[in-house]
Amino acid sequence: MPDLYIDGSWRGALDERTREIRCPADGSRVGVVDEAGGKDTVEAIAAARRAFDEGPWPTTPAADRGDLLLRVADLLVWDKDALARAESLDTGKRLVESEYDIDDIANCFRYFGRQATAETGRVVETGTPSVDSRVVYEPVGVCALITPWNYPLLQTAWKVAPALAAGNTFVLKPSELTPHTAIHLMRLLEEAGVPPGVANLVLGAGPEAGAPLADHPDVDLVSFTGGLATGRALMAAAAGTVKKVALELGGKNPNIVFADADFETAVDMALTAVFLHSGQVCSAGARLLVEDGLHDRFVDEIVRRASRIRLGGPFDERAQTGPLISAAHREKVEAYVARGLAEGAVLRCGGERPTGPGLDDGFYYPPTVLDECSGDMSVVREESFGPVLTVERFSGEAEAVRLANDTIYGLAGAVFSTDEAKAQRVAARLRIGTVWINDFHPYVPQAEWGGFKQSGSGRELGPSGLAEYRETKHIWRNTDPSPQGWFG
Ligand code: NAD
Repeated sequence: MPDLYIDGSWRGALDERTREIRCPADGSRVGVVDEAGGKDTVEAIAAARRAFDEGPWPTTPAADRGDLLLRVADLLVWDKDALARAESLDTGKRLVESEYDIDDIANCFRYFGRQATAETGRVVETGTPSVDSRVVYEPVGVCALITPWNYPLLQTAWKVAPALAAGNTFVLKPSELTPHTAIHLMRLLEEAGVPPGVANLVLGAGPEAGAPLADHPDVDLVSFTGGLATGRALMAAAAGTVKKVALELGGKNPNIVFADADFETAVDMALTAVFLHSGQVCSAGARLLVEDGLHDRFVDEIVRRASRIRLGGPFDERAQTGPLISAAHREKVEAYVARGLAEGAVLRCGGERPTGPGLDDGFYYPPTVLDECSGDMSVVREESFGPVLTVERFSGEAEAVRLANDTIYGLAGAVFSTDEAKAQRVAARLRIGTVWINDFHPYVPQAEWGGFKQSGSGRELGPSGLAEYRETKHIWRNTDPSPQGWFG
């Protein structure tokens, strides 16, 4: 069955190209999917434009749109096993993590299903009896939704659900490396009753299948999650037609551990912060800042536990984390470690490709700790997006804040301390979108998710997540019009 979904029909690419997908855990063949080129994407944009301009979706009552999203949530739950398996085969991540993700994804659809009717506008009190005045929310139009490979369906859900809830039409372009759950989602949207042309899917490489989405005049909004360089290019391309642009970009997230932190909690969470999904998490706590007095004991314990983390494929129940997404990505991570060492970092564990049964055919890289780092090293400044923890020392609150904020990124980070007032003071001074105190990684859809500085523009989740996909319109109605006579 063909894999591109355009104007309510499944079809192959116009030039009949395909792409083979292989599992990063062992190189096994997962499948072959159709690979769109620019012309396919332009057709998908035209379908989304027609569906927006001619309806009925944008004017469907919000309650009906919400009901549809709730149906999609149910369908996701029914298909959880198949979806989780497909996600794990494409990404190489542990099956239990994919299962957890599918629950999150169903919750996301449920959340925006309810949000669809939560705010319908408001009456503005003008004080003039002959006027009624309302603010109403309307869909933005045709949305280009471009997503990465690390949490393929979760990132997709964060865009598709609010875009549909607000009444938009869209063209989705997932990462070319991880297409399968996006295909599955489109089948569920079709089954739930999304009208033809409202939801369109193109698969393929960014510069070909993705590029027209950023500069085509019929696209009104670009919502992108991915790397900083791509985000900058998309923002520039979108400027020509002044599209609305929402960017969720990278992070180099500080994890600040004060000497008075609860030792066990801080060690445990510092490990999860950086090694979950082998560090391929935008909010990974890859930059550990430890207070002087605690440094040696803390880092020794991190190294001891990191060295024992078991690597393995999605279905290896004893594995604690999986492979990197591709050979090219592993080479990038290796290059960051090599540069860090050349710049003076001290390798405390990891740093070499693991070998052995089950590992030789995958893109594995071990949990790696680089100690004695400083803020000018590229491995500290740039996002390696791998299982690489850099450690810097600090002395006191002011230095912790200064080091943590000395970055172009501002996505997430944490403070560990038993002194609540101090933790709150530091949290207030961090220039980042999400600060955890004595915790790492949790999020709730009710709270916004987004980055300060070059980690992004716009917010993805929560009430304002829906706001991204809406235009706000003020309607002023003079109920008793009469000539003003200003000009005779
Ligand atoms: P990427 O920028 O390489 O690719 C992301 C998407 O953009 C893919 O679908 C890709 O095909 C597409 N793309 C690439 N070039 C394009 C172009 N010229 N025009 C249109 N589309 C194009 O990122 P990646 O390697 O897939 O993902 C990893 C990055 O994503 C990391 O930097 C990570 O921090 C970031 N990320 C951020 C968040 C967040 O919430 N802030 C969440 C997840 C991932």
